[in-house]
Amino acid sequence: MSKAEERSSLLSNCIYKNPNETIESRVKDLLSRMTLKEKLGQMTQIERTVASPFVLENLSIGSILNGGGSVPMEQASPSDWADMIDSFQTCALKSRLQIPIVYGTDAVHGHNNVYGATIFPHNVGLGATRDADLVQRIGAATALEIRATGVHYTFAPCVAVCRDPRWGRCYESFSEDTEIVRKMTSIVSGLQGVPPEGHPRGYPFVAGRKNVIACAKHFVGDGGTDRGINEGNAILPFNELENIHIAPYLDCLSQGVSTVMVSYSSWNGSKLHSDKFLLTDILKDKLGFKGFVISDWEGIDRLSQPHGSDFRYCISSSIKAGMDMVMVPYRYDQFLDDFIYLVESGDIPMTRIDDAVERILRVKFVAGLFEHPFADRSLLDMVGCERHRELAREAVRKSLVLLKNGTDPKKPFLPLDKNARKILVAGRHADDLGYQCGGWTITWHGGGGKVTIGIFKDGVCWHYLSTTILDAIKATVGDKTDVIYEQYPSATTLADRDISFAIVVVGEDAYAEYLGDNSELKIPFNGTELIEFVAEQVPTLAILISGRPLVLEPALLEKIDAFVAAWLPGSEGEGIADVLFGDYDFEGLLPVTWFKIVNQLPMNAGGPSYDPLFPLGFGLRCNMDSEPTN
Ligand code: BGC
Repeated sequence: MSKAEERSSLLSNCIYKNPNETIESRVKDLLSRMTLKEKLGQMTQIERTVASPFVLENLSIGSILNGGGSVPMEQASPSDWADMIDSFQTCALKSRLQIPIVYGTDAVHGHNNVYGATIFPHNVGLGATRDADLVQRIGAATALEIRATGVHYTFAPCVAVCRDPRWGRCYESFSEDTEIVRKMTSIVSGLQGVPPEGHPRGYPFVAGRKNVIACAKHFVGDGGTDRGINEGNAILPFNELENIHIAPYLDCLSQGVSTVMVSYSSWNGSKLHSDKFLLTDILKDKLGFKGFVISDWEGIDRLSQPHGSDFRYCISSSIKAGMDMVMVPYRYDQFLDDFIYLVESGDIPMTRIDDAVERILRVKFVAGLFEHPFADRSLLDMVGCERHRELAREAVRKSLVLLKNGTDPKKPFLPLDKNARKILVAGRHADDLGYQCGGWTITWHGGGGKVTIGIFKDGVCWHYLSTTILDAIKATVGDKTDVIYEQYPSATTLADRDISFAIVVVGEDAYAEYLGDNSELKIPFNGTELIEFVAEQVPTLAILISGRPLVLEPALLEKIDAFVAAWLPGSEGEGIADVLFGDYDFEGLLPVTWFKIVNQLPMNAGGPSYDPLFPLGFGLRCNMDSEPTN
């Protein structure tokens, strides 16, 4: 008998190994067998590139992640992912108590770090759909693609209520309106499965192997910081924090969300990562959260200046405030040394450690990791499958917001004619999946410019499975229609009197987090000038690809014939052509207020002297007879 087999047989009779025992008795039993070192190991989440077999076998590490910011897994296929995670798991299961690791990733609009995965619209676009059922189905599809690659845990959904579009994470928020965000939390039931009736609020839930552990983030007030500054300070009284920003967490907790990630930001100057009142008194005690609270990436380091200079202080203040798992992610050896010192010296009470570890083990048992630690390869075909792409296409269709459609209501400009003689398509965003998908796609900040898309399987390239807007237009129009594409059309092209109309696609570069903070909100790459240049000569529809409203001069709006906000639609450009050419009508309604000038910000519906360019909830239909519903 090998050493490992011997250990397995010794452990096989333990309560915690028995799936017929209750989760709580399994948690208690396992906890009672753990050393302090093993407990602290479980509270540690490390980055995949430092997860060596030695570390996993000997330190009882609780979790591994690939952050959006870590090295992209160049050309890794879905099955490469499964192999990698299974090999981590094999090492973790060689540890003394054979506690499985939980592997986490940022699958925030589909399984977006994986080549070949279906990329859904970012949350701002989903907020425009107002369709809770659609969003739940997207959660379920995403869960299947995640599980196929052996990943158990996604750091999603972001339930931030973005009160200021200058914030670089506006597109990760479903809306500026709390009620819309609350509705969209249905994605939790898609990711984790729907808990049975009577499931106690706050108790974690994961239905089975086709579901994943979800994470509501970033607790709390991340979308309410002063001037929309990323990781900034939300200045507001508790009742407003509760009504605007905490409220969506109630819906997540009712659906059994298993984990909650803490925000880098501060509330009235107090950093959330060490805010005991919010993490413990409110989230755990008042709202009854029984899953685990996880820090953000190096979030505890930011409790001291310069970052992490007094690491013991960072660890102590965060753990005592109620942090259960720390996304370290690289300095795990120093973290564990300092952590053990703090517990042994009596600074951090043992009861706090036991509480944190109980929560982590509870989630692991709930998610069935002890019974099914490895990837289910039968799911591999789900990654980027046709059914999921069709779902993403539906989401794109429903997310588009029509803001202008001709000047005379009797002569709407859209839908466009599929049999027009010649269509001019312009703008770099018309043929670029990187812009179309935005941040958190293959890399942390996404791929502006022609996105690098790896070969992933059997020589099939992701690019050919996905469609850009240009691809989609070409595939939709009639055989006799000529579609010409020029990023910046020349005067000669524009002088061609055969052009029936132009579709100009402009928008933002891809970005993530602070990289997207922007106090001017102008259309980049001379987008405004491009639209004007084209619109002066041919009838023009402008499409904006962006994570938020951008400045639209009244003169520009006047010059163009139609305007569509397409947000960050993801891999299925066909959804856009479906609606432009009239196979479906527009349904999207603004999830955020469209400001007139940046000096008006922050400006939210219901606020004093609300004077937007387009109000929250605005959205036209082509068929004027049917009223949009809010
Ligand atoms: C982000 C989180 C993300 C984490 C892990 C952080 O920088 O704020 O939203 O889940 O990185 O990638």
